[in-house]
Amino acid sequence: MQFCQAHWDKMRESVKSHGMESLVSDSGIEVLEKIKQQFQGVDSISTYDPLMDMHWAILGNLPPYLSFKEGCPLCNANKDHAESCTGPPCKITDFEWMIDRSAEDAVEHWKELTS
Ligand SMILES: [Zn+2]
Ligand SMILES: [Zn+2]
Repeated sequence: MQFCQAHWDKMRESVKSHGMESLVSDSGIEVLEKIKQQFQGVDSISTYDPLMDMHWAILGNLPPYLSFKEGCPLCNANKDHAESCTGPPCKITDFEWMIDRSAEDAVEHWKELTS
């Protein structure tokens, strides 16, 4: 399970448009170090990575089986819905909104950490 490049780019864009660009880790090593510290219970501005947070938030809001499926969970969610939808009147077109939604939550968490 891994987000595809297109969805990852969208997440990065959303982080940027929500003003959190400076919080994004520069390297994979930095991300791993942050994850390690978060697991040890350190939840602070220096260990916070909005992209990681959004990653888990999106997974947490999708049906659990998608976490275990091959490929991008958002692509799979869109695809599965398109295939199994019995609408109209279904208002769901895709799950792209989850990206901005998770970014908004990340901003909230960021504010909590800095206040
Ligand atoms: Zn995707
Ligand atoms: Zn539907």
